[in-house]
Amino acid sequence: MGDMLLTHEPVLRLSVFLGVLVGMMLWELAAPRRRLEIPRVLRWTNNLALVAMDTALLRLTFPVLAVGVGVLAQDKGFGLFNMVELPGALAFCAGILLLDLAIYLQHVLFHAVPALWRLHRMHHADLDFDVTTGLRFHPLEILLSMGIKLAVVAALGLSPVTVLVFEILLNATALFNHSNIRLSPSVDRWLRLVLVTPDMHRVHHSVDPRETNSNYGFSVPWWDRLLGTYVAQPALGHESMQIGIEQFREPADLRLDRMLIQPLIGPASGHALDVSGEHRDGSRD
Ligand SMILES: [Zn+2]
Ligand SMILES: [Zn+2]
Repeated sequence: MGDMLLTHEPVLRLSVFLGVLVGMMLWELAAPRRRLEIPRVLRWTNNLALVAMDTALLRLTFPVLAVGVGVLAQDKGFGLFNMVELPGALAFCAGILLLDLAIYLQHVLFHAVPALWRLHRMHHADLDFDVTTGLRFHPLEILLSMGIKLAVVAALGLSPVTVLVFEILLNATALFNHSNIRLSPSVDRWLRLVLVTPDMHRVHHSVDPRETNSNYGFSVPWWDRLLGTYVAQPALGHESMQIGIEQFREPADLRLDRMLIQPLIGPASGHALDVSGEHRDGSRD
Protein backbone atom coordinates (compact mmCIF):
# COMPACT_ATOMS: atom_id res chain seq x y z
CA MET A 1 0.00 0.00 0.00
CA GLY A 2 2.73 2.42 1.04
CA ASP A 3 4.87 1.49 -1.95
CA MET A 4 1.94 1.96 -4.29
CA LEU A 5 1.33 5.47 -2.91
CA LEU A 6 4.97 6.39 -3.42
CA THR A 7 5.16 4.99 -6.97
CA HIS A 8 2.19 7.08 -8.02
CA GLU A 9 3.26 10.13 -6.01
CA PRO A 10 3.29 12.80 -8.76
CA VAL A 11 -0.03 11.72 -10.30
CA LEU A 12 -1.61 11.39 -6.87
CA ARG A 13 -0.51 14.86 -5.74
CA LEU A 14 -1.50 16.56 -8.95
CA SER A 15 -4.90 14.88 -9.25
CA VAL A 16 -5.89 15.62 -5.62
CA PHE A 17 -4.67 19.21 -6.04
CA LEU A 18 -6.50 19.85 -9.32
CA GLY A 19 -9.58 17.93 -8.21
CA VAL A 20 -9.95 19.90 -4.97
CA LEU A 21 -9.05 23.22 -6.66
CA VAL A 22 -11.61 22.85 -9.45
CA GLY A 23 -14.18 21.36 -7.06
CA MET A 24 -13.87 24.33 -4.69
CA MET A 25 -13.98 26.83 -7.59
CA LEU A 26 -17.26 25.33 -8.78
CA TRP A 27 -18.64 25.25 -5.21
CA GLU A 28 -17.70 28.94 -4.83
CA LEU A 29 -19.63 29.79 -8.00
CA ALA A 30 -22.66 27.75 -6.90
CA ALA A 31 -22.86 28.88 -3.26
CA PRO A 32 -20.62 31.88 -2.48
CA ARG A 33 -20.24 33.10 1.11
CA ARG A 34 -19.30 36.72 0.34
CA ARG A 35 -19.53 38.96 -2.71
CA LEU A 36 -16.02 39.34 -4.16
CA GLU A 37 -14.71 42.93 -4.40
CA ILE A 38 -12.05 42.39 -7.06
CA PRO A 39 -12.56 40.97 -10.58
CA ARG A 40 -11.67 37.27 -10.46
CA VAL A 41 -9.47 37.42 -13.54
CA LEU A 42 -6.98 39.78 -11.83
CA ARG A 43 -6.59 37.69 -8.68
CA TRP A 44 -6.80 34.25 -10.22
CA THR A 45 -4.23 34.84 -12.96
CA ASN A 46 -1.71 36.36 -10.54
CA ASN A 47 -2.31 33.90 -7.68
CA LEU A 48 -2.07 30.92 -10.05
CA ALA A 49 1.04 32.32 -11.75
CA LEU A 50 2.60 32.65 -8.29
CA VAL A 51 1.90 29.01 -7.36
CA ALA A 52 3.44 27.86 -10.66
CA MET A 53 6.51 29.95 -9.92
CA ASP A 54 6.73 28.66 -6.33
CA THR A 55 6.51 25.04 -7.46
CA ALA A 56 9.20 25.42 -10.12
CA LEU A 57 11.51 27.27 -7.72
CA LEU A 58 11.09 24.60 -5.04
CA ARG A 59 11.99 21.82 -7.50
CA LEU A 60 15.06 23.71 -8.71
CA THR A 61 16.33 24.72 -5.27
CA PHE A 62 16.04 21.55 -3.21
CA PRO A 63 17.71 18.33 -4.39
CA VAL A 64 15.26 16.34 -2.23
CA LEU A 65 11.90 17.36 -0.84
CA ALA A 66 10.15 16.18 2.33
CA VAL A 67 9.24 12.68 1.06
CA GLY A 68 12.86 12.19 -0.07
CA VAL A 69 14.15 13.06 3.40
CA GLY A 70 11.69 10.51 4.82
CA VAL A 71 13.22 7.84 2.51
CA LEU A 72 16.71 8.89 3.57
CA ALA A 73 15.83 8.79 7.28
CA GLN A 74 14.38 5.30 6.88
CA ASP A 75 17.42 3.99 4.96
CA LYS A 76 19.99 5.47 7.34
CA GLY A 77 17.90 4.89 10.47
CA PHE A 78 18.00 8.41 11.86
CA GLY A 79 15.25 10.41 13.58
CA LEU A 80 13.03 9.64 16.57
CA PHE A 81 10.57 7.21 14.95
CA ASN A 82 13.38 5.17 13.41
CA MET A 83 14.95 4.70 16.85
CA VAL A 84 11.92 3.76 18.96
CA GLU A 85 9.79 0.75 18.04
CA LEU A 86 6.18 1.85 17.64
CA PRO A 87 3.27 0.02 15.97
CA GLY A 88 3.02 1.31 12.38
CA ALA A 89 -0.43 2.87 12.76
CA LEU A 90 0.56 4.71 15.94
CA ALA A 91 3.76 6.07 14.39
CA PHE A 92 1.74 7.18 11.35
CA CYS A 93 -0.91 9.05 13.39
CA ALA A 94 1.63 10.57 15.79
CA GLY A 95 3.77 11.62 12.82
CA ILE A 96 0.86 13.36 11.07
CA LEU A 97 -0.14 15.20 14.27
CA LEU A 98 3.42 16.27 15.15
CA LEU A 99 4.07 17.53 11.63
CA ASP A 100 0.82 19.50 11.76
CA LEU A 101 1.78 20.98 15.15
CA ALA A 102 5.13 22.00 13.66
CA ILE A 103 3.36 23.77 10.76
CA TYR A 104 1.09 25.55 13.26
CA LEU A 105 4.09 26.72 15.35
CA GLN A 106 5.88 27.84 12.21
CA HIS A 107 2.84 29.90 11.22
CA VAL A 108 2.82 31.56 14.68
CA LEU A 109 6.53 32.31 14.24
CA PHE A 110 5.92 33.92 10.83
CA HIS A 111 3.42 36.24 12.52
CA ALA A 112 5.62 37.03 15.54
CA VAL A 113 9.04 37.80 14.02
CA PRO A 114 8.90 41.08 12.06
CA ALA A 115 11.29 39.93 9.30
CA LEU A 116 9.28 36.74 8.75
CA TRP A 117 6.01 38.66 8.89
CA ARG A 118 7.28 40.76 5.94
CA LEU A 119 7.33 37.55 3.90
CA HIS A 120 4.15 35.99 5.24
CA ARG A 121 1.98 39.13 5.11
CA MET A 122 1.86 38.75 1.32
CA HIS A 123 -0.49 35.81 1.95
CA HIS A 124 -2.67 38.19 3.98
CA ALA A 125 -2.54 41.05 1.46
CA ASP A 126 -5.05 39.36 -0.85
CA LEU A 127 -8.08 41.66 -0.94
CA ASP A 128 -10.59 38.85 -1.37
CA PHE A 129 -10.64 35.45 0.26
CA ASP A 130 -11.18 32.46 -2.00
CA VAL A 131 -9.57 29.13 -2.93
CA THR A 132 -6.71 30.85 -4.82
CA THR A 133 -5.78 32.78 -1.65
CA GLY A 134 -4.74 29.42 -0.23
CA LEU A 135 -2.01 29.18 -2.90
CA ARG A 136 -0.63 32.67 -2.44
CA PHE A 137 2.69 32.49 -0.58
CA HIS A 138 5.87 34.44 -1.21
CA PRO A 139 8.58 32.24 -2.84
CA LEU A 140 10.99 32.98 0.03
CA GLU A 141 8.39 31.82 2.55
CA ILE A 142 7.91 28.64 0.49
CA LEU A 143 11.67 27.95 0.52
CA LEU A 144 12.05 28.73 4.23
CA SER A 145 9.11 26.58 5.25
CA MET A 146 10.39 23.70 3.11
CA GLY A 147 13.72 23.97 4.97
CA ILE A 148 11.90 23.84 8.31
CA LYS A 149 9.76 20.92 7.16
CA LEU A 150 12.83 18.93 6.02
CA ALA A 151 14.42 19.48 9.44
CA VAL A 152 11.25 18.30 11.23
CA VAL A 153 10.92 15.20 9.01
CA ALA A 154 14.60 14.36 9.62
CA ALA A 155 14.45 14.95 13.40
CA LEU A 156 11.27 12.89 13.80
CA GLY A 157 12.37 10.24 11.30
CA LEU A 158 8.96 10.28 9.62
CA SER A 159 8.27 7.59 7.04
CA PRO A 160 7.90 8.74 3.43
CA VAL A 161 4.27 7.57 3.36
CA THR A 162 3.46 9.62 6.48
CA VAL A 163 4.99 12.69 4.84
CA LEU A 164 3.21 12.13 1.52
CA VAL A 165 -0.21 11.59 3.13
CA PHE A 166 0.33 14.65 5.34
CA GLU A 167 1.27 16.87 2.40
CA ILE A 168 -1.69 15.76 0.31
CA LEU A 169 -4.09 16.27 3.24
CA LEU A 170 -2.65 19.69 4.14
CA ASN A 171 -2.85 20.80 0.53
CA ALA A 172 -6.50 19.74 0.31
CA THR A 173 -7.51 21.27 3.67
CA ALA A 174 -5.75 24.56 2.86
CA LEU A 175 -7.68 24.82 -0.43
CA PHE A 176 -10.92 23.96 1.37
CA ASN A 177 -10.55 26.41 4.25
CA HIS A 178 -9.66 29.36 2.00
CA SER A 179 -12.75 28.83 -0.12
CA ASN A 180 -15.49 31.40 -0.45
CA ILE A 181 -18.19 28.79 0.11
CA ARG A 182 -21.36 28.99 2.15
CA LEU A 183 -21.83 26.26 4.76
CA SER A 184 -24.86 26.25 7.02
CA PRO A 185 -24.04 27.37 10.59
CA SER A 186 -24.83 23.94 12.00
CA VAL A 187 -22.56 22.15 9.48
CA ASP A 188 -19.81 24.66 10.25
CA ARG A 189 -20.24 24.10 13.98
CA TRP A 190 -19.90 20.32 13.73
CA LEU A 191 -17.17 20.33 11.10
CA ARG A 192 -15.16 22.82 13.13
CA LEU A 193 -14.67 20.21 15.86
CA VAL A 194 -12.28 18.31 13.58
CA LEU A 195 -11.41 20.58 10.64
CA VAL A 196 -10.55 24.24 10.11
CA THR A 197 -13.58 25.55 8.19
CA PRO A 198 -13.57 28.53 5.77
CA ASP A 199 -15.42 30.66 8.36
CA MET A 200 -12.74 29.83 10.95
CA HIS A 201 -9.81 30.63 8.66
CA ARG A 202 -11.47 33.77 7.23
CA VAL A 203 -11.05 35.33 10.70
CA HIS A 204 -7.28 34.96 10.14
CA HIS A 205 -7.59 37.10 6.97
CA SER A 206 -9.39 39.97 8.75
CA VAL A 207 -7.76 43.39 8.53
CA ASP A 208 -8.12 43.75 12.34
CA PRO A 209 -4.72 42.67 13.80
CA ARG A 210 -6.39 40.96 16.78
CA GLU A 211 -8.13 38.69 14.29
CA THR A 212 -5.19 38.41 11.84
CA ASN A 213 -3.12 37.08 14.74
CA SER A 214 -5.47 34.21 15.59
CA ASN A 215 -6.61 30.88 14.08
CA TYR A 216 -3.19 29.79 12.81
CA GLY A 217 -4.20 26.19 12.09
CA PHE A 218 -4.45 25.02 8.46
CA SER A 219 -6.02 21.63 9.02
CA VAL A 220 -7.22 20.69 12.53
CA PRO A 221 -8.58 23.39 14.88
CA TRP A 222 -7.12 21.72 17.99
CA TRP A 223 -3.82 23.62 18.25
CA ASP A 224 -5.59 26.99 18.28
CA ARG A 225 -8.04 25.70 20.88
CA LEU A 226 -5.34 24.20 23.10
CA LEU A 227 -2.84 27.04 22.83
CA GLY A 228 -5.25 29.97 23.21
CA THR A 229 -5.13 31.45 19.70
CA TYR A 230 -8.71 30.59 18.75
CA VAL A 231 -11.20 33.30 17.74
CA ALA A 232 -14.60 31.89 16.82
CA GLN A 233 -16.02 34.66 14.59
CA PRO A 234 -14.97 38.07 13.22
CA ALA A 235 -16.23 41.00 15.35
CA LEU A 236 -17.93 42.64 12.34
CA GLY A 237 -19.46 39.41 11.01
CA HIS A 238 -18.44 37.51 7.87
CA GLU A 239 -20.37 39.76 5.46
CA SER A 240 -19.05 43.11 6.75
CA MET A 241 -15.52 42.23 7.86
CA GLN A 242 -12.69 43.62 5.76
CA ILE A 243 -10.23 41.17 4.18
CA GLY A 244 -6.50 41.93 3.90
CA ILE A 245 -3.99 44.04 5.80
CA GLU A 246 -3.83 47.83 6.19
CA GLN A 247 -0.72 48.22 4.09
CA PHE A 248 -1.47 46.98 0.57
CA ARG A 249 -4.99 47.89 -0.46
CA GLU A 250 -4.70 48.90 -4.13
CA PRO A 251 -5.86 46.45 -6.82
CA ALA A 252 -2.40 46.97 -8.40
CA ASP A 253 -0.90 45.36 -5.25
CA LEU A 254 -2.48 42.09 -6.43
CA ARG A 255 -0.16 41.91 -9.44
CA LEU A 256 2.58 39.28 -9.31
CA ASP A 257 5.47 41.76 -9.70
CA ARG A 258 4.09 43.93 -6.88
CA MET A 259 3.49 40.91 -4.63
CA LEU A 260 7.10 39.77 -4.98
CA ILE A 261 8.54 43.08 -3.70
CA GLN A 262 6.06 43.53 -0.82
CA PRO A 263 8.55 42.23 1.81
CA LEU A 264 10.77 45.24 1.07
CA ILE A 265 8.05 47.88 1.25
CA GLY A 266 7.06 49.95 4.29
CA PRO A 267 7.25 49.05 7.98
CA ALA A 268 6.60 45.53 9.31
CA SER A 269 3.55 46.72 11.24
CA GLY A 270 0.62 44.53 12.18
CA HIS A 271 2.60 41.45 13.28
CA ALA A 272 1.59 39.52 16.39
CA LEU A 273 3.94 41.35 18.79
CA ASP A 274 3.33 44.83 17.33
CA VAL A 275 1.68 47.04 19.95
CA SER A 276 2.11 50.36 18.10
CA GLY A 277 -1.58 50.66 17.26
CA GLU A 278 -2.71 49.48 20.68
CA HIS A 279 -4.06 51.64 23.52
CA ARG A 280 -3.26 51.05 27.16
CA ASP A 281 -6.52 49.21 27.74
CA GLY A 282 -5.62 46.75 24.99
CA SER A 283 -8.01 48.19 22.41
CA ARG A 284 -6.91 49.45 19.01
CA ASP A 285 -7.89 52.29 16.73
ZN1 LIG B 1 -1.01 33.94 8.59
ZN1 LIG C 1 -4.67 31.85 4.89
